[in-house]
Amino acid sequence: MSEQIKYWHVTYNDIHNLIRKVTPKIVADFNPDLLIAIAGGGFFPARVMRTFLREQTTNKSLQIQAIGLSLYEPVEGMTAEQLGNVVIRTQWLSQPGKTLVGKRNLIVDEVDDTRKTLHYAVSELKKDVEQELLSYPESEREALRSATKFGIFVVHNKLKPKLAELSAGTPYFAGEEVGDVWLNYPWEAMDIEAHDILSTKDKAGL
Ligand code: 5GP
Repeated sequence: MSEQIKYWHVTYNDIHNLIRKVTPKIVADFNPDLLIAIAGGGFFPARVMRTFLREQTTNKSLQIQAIGLSLYEPVEGMTAEQLGNVVIRTQWLSQPGKTLVGKRNLIVDEVDDTRKTLHYAVSELKKDVEQELLSYPESEREALRSATKFGIFVVHNKLKPKLAELSAGTPYFAGEEVGDVWLNYPWEAMDIEAHDILSTKDKAGL
């Protein structure tokens, strides 16, 4: 018999407070210039993080770019194994050209589960950096490449074996580490009051 899946309801306030708590560390260790939200779970966290970053840094609102990745879209003729390794960009940077180069880019998502999405996001964005670098003189490219950084922020990191790795030393921040539970996010709820009641029950162990 398969193990029963455990659910955990997370409220807007939970997420807001986790982001408030982690932002000083992000400012101290990474200090992003640009937020890149992964659609759609990264939208709300990125917007909330911008509020705290603004308050704790230069009082300047950071730009939020959005990217969308789909990992498991069926493509005709592919084996199951190939399917699991395919990344499809469903949405991308609004101003390809000179968006990423020379910046500290913080990728924001709601949850790091198998880590495949984050791995693909970083590797696709690094390809964009190489494209962008082509528009700079060759003599400047190496310095600009090393000045371009990618960091990760997720609201929740699931403590479980990951199916993909990030390059060693990638700045990584999680609001909270959780077990291998299924997280119900508030933006997926049809009835937010009922969702919040379920969250209170989860926290009380009911
Ligand atoms: P990955 O396995 O690549 O780390 O995560 C893929 C995507 O699956 C996440 O961006 C998220 O949209 C979804 N996902 C993974 N775990 C959960 C979860 O516990 N709750 C919800 N709502 N979505 C999840």
